[in-house]
Amino acid sequence: QQPSTGPVPAPDPAVGAAVHSTDRQHVFHSWSAQGKIDPLAVAGAEGSYFWDYDGKRYLDFTSGLVFTNIGYQHPKVVAAIQEQAAKLTTFAPAFAIEARSEAARLIAERTPGDLDKIFFTNAGADAVEHAVRMARLHTGRPKVLAAYRSYHGGTHQAINLTGDPRRWASDTGTAGVVHFNAPHLYRSPFYAETEEQECERALAHLEQTIAYEGPQTIAAVILETIPGTAGIMMPPPGYLQGVREICDRHGIVYILDEVMAGFGRTGTWFAADLYDVVPDLLTFAKGVNSGYVPLGGVAISAKIAETFDQRPYPGGLTYSGHPLACGAAVATLQVMAEEGIVEHAARLGESVIGPALREIAERHPSVGEVRGTGVFWALDLVRDRTTREPLVPYNATGQDNAPMAEFAAACKSGGLWPFVNMNRTHVVPPCNVTEAEVKEGLAVLDDALSAADAHTVPGGAT
Ligand code: PMP
Repeated sequence: QQPSTGPVPAPDPAVGAAVHSTDRQHVFHSWSAQGKIDPLAVAGAEGSYFWDYDGKRYLDFTSGLVFTNIGYQHPKVVAAIQEQAAKLTTFAPAFAIEARSEAARLIAERTPGDLDKIFFTNAGADAVEHAVRMARLHTGRPKVLAAYRSYHGGTHQAINLTGDPRRWASDTGTAGVVHFNAPHLYRSPFYAETEEQECERALAHLEQTIAYEGPQTIAAVILETIPGTAGIMMPPPGYLQGVREICDRHGIVYILDEVMAGFGRTGTWFAADLYDVVPDLLTFAKGVNSGYVPLGGVAISAKIAETFDQRPYPGGLTYSGHPLACGAAVATLQVMAEEGIVEHAARLGESVIGPALREIAERHPSVGEVRGTGVFWALDLVRDRTTREPLVPYNATGQDNAPMAEFAAACKSGGLWPFVNMNRTHVVPPCNVTEAEVKEGLAVLDDALSAADAHTVPGGAT
């Protein structure tokens, strides 16, 4: 069954085959061995669904790469992009442009505290690059502390800050980056047994890292407010405020990366709102305009903005604050407010997704932990609940990754497109997914988990 509205082409496998074949000849894909991939040819998308040229429809539990916070092809945002294109498609960043100033105003209104100045970038990684640069210039210090189990982007500095294995291949080891352990109680790096212990020990560890590295050498601490790609690991209460206090004490700039968590995903405008914390710099992208046109940025506090009041900020991008992207952001933020999408995401998380996932977990021995908020959830899959051994080894490929590949294949054959990373599946549908769609997707996921259960240790605890 196809969606009822929108330009849905009739199934046309021949066109799909041609698109696929041209892609394989000429498109070089991210993060992939080019000879081993088989990308699905997508014919169209609407709301929470997309479909291929054979007419098979998928419910998208990934929101693309966790960016379609208002789903695909929202008519008001598509119309706003068309209007902006007709009015002023592009203009250089040095000028004051209506779409750009309005987008900045709306973003500043929603970001916490005094993060009232917006520097626009093209996406998340370059937002991180610029945030780090601002911190270095503001403090005159070289080093940045970043967490293991993090993702900050694919450009040079951002991938070096990243704490997942994608960093390894291009890690220069000399980029002024020091990694530390952020809290994660389920697999505690601090052997903690309670959230209080985890928080206390994680803060002590950060304090110690700063002491050994030399506070006067550290420009910034960067954290994802809720680490996303690395596993939607909710920080224990008090941790993010504790980091705020440590940064203040040492004159270190506090950067929170909300490229994935921002703009409604957590059931609040920003994840920082959940923890009542205000960073000095906040990076965003993805949800700011649902990824309809590439856009990211840094929300800047008064303190950092002051540094560059009389002294130039030595950085910029040709397309900074691109009118088309900013027009899409204005429309997206208006739609989110008009349709109460943030509140909807909060309600879904609390009364639909969270309870349903916990109930599913009770019946599947492969589910070790359920964690999340809003429309930002992870199932941590394990071979054995007692030992918490992950269902597949860290960074597994090929045969070692078979349990997750089988789980993903079962989801897809049931019409659900799942987010799978290492031993986890993330439930990250659009923030305006309906309750009925969530239930439809979770029913498929529930069945598909049997494929993962088959790889648990026989007789392991359930
Ligand atoms: N930071 C975080 C927290 C992210 O999740 C991502 C993307 N997944 C990035 C930065 C990089 O963003 P982009 O791919 O738009 O450069």
